[in-house]
Amino acid sequence: MTDSLLPGHPFIAYQDGELCVEQVRLSSLAAQHGTPLFVYSKAAMLSALAAYQRGFAGRQAQICYAMKANSSLAVLQVFAQAGCGFDIVSAGELARVLAAGGDPAKVIFSGVGKTRAEMKQALQVGIGCFNVESTAELDVLSEVACSMGRQAPVSLRVNPNVDPKTHPYISTGLKGNKFGVAHEDAVPIYRHAASLPGLKVVGIDCHIGSQITEVTPYLDAMDRVLDLVIDIEAAGVPIHHIDFGGGLGINYNGDTPPEADALWAQLLAKLDARGFGERQLMIEPGRSLVGNAGVCLSEVLYLKPGEQKNFCIIDAAMNDLPRPAMYQAFHHIAPVQIRKGADTLYDVVGPVCESGDWIGRDRSLSVQAGDVLAVLSAGAYCMSMASNYNSRGRAAEILVDGAQVHLIRERESVFDTFQLEHLPA
Ligand SMILES: *Cc1c(COP(=O)(O)O)cnc(C)c1O
Repeated sequence: MTDSLLPGHPFIAYQDGELCVEQVRLSSLAAQHGTPLFVYSKAAMLSALAAYQRGFAGRQAQICYAMKANSSLAVLQVFAQAGCGFDIVSAGELARVLAAGGDPAKVIFSGVGKTRAEMKQALQVGIGCFNVESTAELDVLSEVACSMGRQAPVSLRVNPNVDPKTHPYISTGLKGNKFGVAHEDAVPIYRHAASLPGLKVVGIDCHIGSQITEVTPYLDAMDRVLDLVIDIEAAGVPIHHIDFGGGLGINYNGDTPPEADALWAQLLAKLDARGFGERQLMIEPGRSLVGNAGVCLSEVLYLKPGEQKNFCIIDAAMNDLPRPAMYQAFHHIAPVQIRKGADTLYDVVGPVCESGDWIGRDRSLSVQAGDVLAVLSAGAYCMSMASNYNSRGRAAEILVDGAQVHLIRERESVFDTFQLEHLPA
C-alpha cells in the first residue's frame, strides 16, 4: 500500500505502514541518526523546481532560489546544479552560495538593511543584482561601488500595495510595512538611481508576501509593476529585467495554492497581453521549492494525560520548528510507523520552557513513548530559523536521493554551542 500524505507529493508516503522519503524508511533513519532529525527528498525539490521550469519553457527567465527558506549547503548544491540562481539577504548567505558551488552572477541581494561591508563583498564577487529597498541605500551603494571603481547593478523593490491575503507577519507588499519603496515614489527614485555614478539600473522587483495561495494578488501586483515600468521608461530609465519575487504557498493543511506552472501560465498570458512577454524575467521562490520536500523526525518522550488536555511531549521543540510559535502555523504530524489502536487527542509539545512551545494542537494520534513522529512540511523556514534556545544543539539533517542517504549536517553538540564563549579569569 502506498498512501501519499500530501497530495502532489509522492516522495513522502507510507509503504506497508512505514513512512518513507523516496525509498528510505524514516524509522531506520531515526534509529541510525537519532532525533530530532530533518530529512529532505532531493526528488521532491527537483520536482517543485520542474514545475517552475515547465512554466517558463521558451522564456527568458532566471529562477533565484530564496535561500533563507533552507540554507543548508547540500540543499543549495541541489539547486545550483539544477541551474538556479539565489536570492540572498546577507553576506552569510552569499558565502554559503559560493561554498555550495553557486554562480555569483546569478545572485540577487535583497533586504532592507545591507551593510557597507556586505555590499563590498557582493561587489567583489560580482553578483547579478542588488534589490535596493530605499533611497538611502541607493546612495550608500553608489558610494561603496565608486570607492571600488565599480558600478553596482540595481533593481528597486517597489511596493505594489496589494493584499496577498496571508498572515500579517509574512505579508510584505502593503503600505505600512518596512519593505520596498512606495509605488508613488518609484519614478523619482529611479531617476535619482540613474543619476548616481556608482549604479547601473538593470531592473525592477517586488515581493508581496509569503504562503500566497491565490492567483489574484500576483495578477494585481503584476499590473501595478508593469504600470510602473511604463512610467519609469517614459522618464528615460530603461528597465532590463522584471523580478516578481517569491511567495507561492504550499499545502500545509488542505491549502490549495496553484501549481507553479499554472500560476505562471496566467501571469505570462498577462505579460504577453501587455507586450512584456519578451522581457528578461526573474523570480525568487523559497518555500514552494523546499517546504514539502522535508520532514522533521522526533521521538515521543512522554505522554502526559490531563484533565483538560493530553500532552504528547516530543524531543523536537520551538528551537527546531519555530513556525507554530511564531505564526501559529500548522504542520501535519504523522507516526513513522502506523500503530494499531485507538486514537487520543493530544497537544504535541516540545521540552522548551515556554508555553508557546507547541508543535501541534488537538492532534488525534495513536502513540506510545518511544515512537517516532514526523512533522511534515518542514523543509522551509524550520532548520534555517532554528536556534540554540534552552541550550539545545541544532538537529542533524539528511538528504535522501532515491535509496541513497546523505548525512548533510551533523547534530550540533552542546560543546559546539558554547565554543565561542569565554569565562573571565
Ligand atoms: C522571503 C523572500 C522570498 C521568498 O519567499 P517565499 O515565500 O519563501 O517564496 C523572496 N523574495 C524576497 C525578497 C524575500 O524576502
